[in-house]
Amino acid sequence: MANLSGGEAVSPEHIYDMVIVGGGPGGYTAALYAARAGLDAVVLERLAAGGQIALTQRVDNYPGFDQGIDGYALGENMRSGAQRFGAKTRMAEAKSLTLSGAVKRVDTGEGPLLGRTVVLATGAVPRELGIPGERELAGQGVHYCAACDGMFYRDKTAAVVGGGSSAAEDALLLSRVCRRVVLIHRRDTLRAEKVYHAPLMEADNVEFCWDSEVAELLRGERLQGVRLRNVKTGEARTVGCDGLFVSIGRKPASELARGQLRLDPGGYILADESTRTDIPGVFAVGDVRTKALRQIITAAADGAAAVHYAQEYLAQGGPS
Ligand code: NAP
Repeated sequence: MANLSGGEAVSPEHIYDMVIVGGGPGGYTAALYAARAGLDAVVLERLAAGGQIALTQRVDNYPGFDQGIDGYALGENMRSGAQRFGAKTRMAEAKSLTLSGAVKRVDTGEGPLLGRTVVLATGAVPRELGIPGERELAGQGVHYCAACDGMFYRDKTAAVVGGGSSAAEDALLLSRVCRRVVLIHRRDTLRAEKVYHAPLMEADNVEFCWDSEVAELLRGERLQGVRLRNVKTGEARTVGCDGLFVSIGRKPASELARGQLRLDPGGYILADESTRTDIPGVFAVGDVRTKALRQIITAAADGAAAVHYAQEYLAQGGPS
């Protein structure tokens, strides 16, 4: 009997109707809909419910919460809502997938899981700058989540790289904690949603380094600052900072599917609104799927769609 932590012992031969890889909004919506449809579903979760939203201080654009909701709480609510109808959760990391055939297999660090269908809800991971010293300084001055690590820089100087909504949100969060925040962006305008522009411009401890990219991390034992390069003039400039928050978007967590499912050039799993991939019985939901808008609400919608098409697939008796 395998004993995947987070639940009762399960027989390695047990075949679930649906194995859901990833416990974010897409994964737990699939679990909720599957459980309500009477499917025997299990969610593989690595760290905490909610995926990326667990790291978001406040979610204001998921309807139904007129005062917004803490991302961690939203993730927990999604899990308990699915569990209320009998969905199971296993705390384990998927290591490899075998997706062809009527019974699919997800190998985890704590034993295999078998399923008639598989829903991949693995989300996305932060993009790195890809400059020397970045990996070594990760957690020692270089960070990828202001909501998680911003508190380490109370009354200190933090720099944020990026010009999207995530970078804007991070800079605003840090401006409430840090003495000084420097936003570094490779263009001369933000791409972030308009709602962030005025508060950022009005914050008296936020400075902007436009048209700038980080050329070098300046370090002793920890990060001490960054050397910037102006992308228009080539001019170099040094900015001292205690922490650097890299907020330049995310990349899909699709490595497990590589070689089995079709991916687009950016690594996203190719699937349309039905969430069906090119292997029958395998579905891709949320940020890991090719789509125009990656939001909590679109991930949740994918989870519901996946169960609809999984039921259709199971009713037809699986692969033909
Ligand atoms: P994003 O919108 O893709 O923005 C990434 C930013 O990083 C861009 O400004 C980009 O510059 C910059 N960048 C990319 N690679 C870079 C590199 N190597 N060096 C320096 N800069 C680099 O990503 P995001 O901000 O993470 O947002 C992702 C999605 O989540 C968006 O749809 C966004 O609307 C959504 N989101 C929503 C909320 C909310 O509603 N509360 C909060 C956060 C995010 P360029 O502009 O030059 O391309």
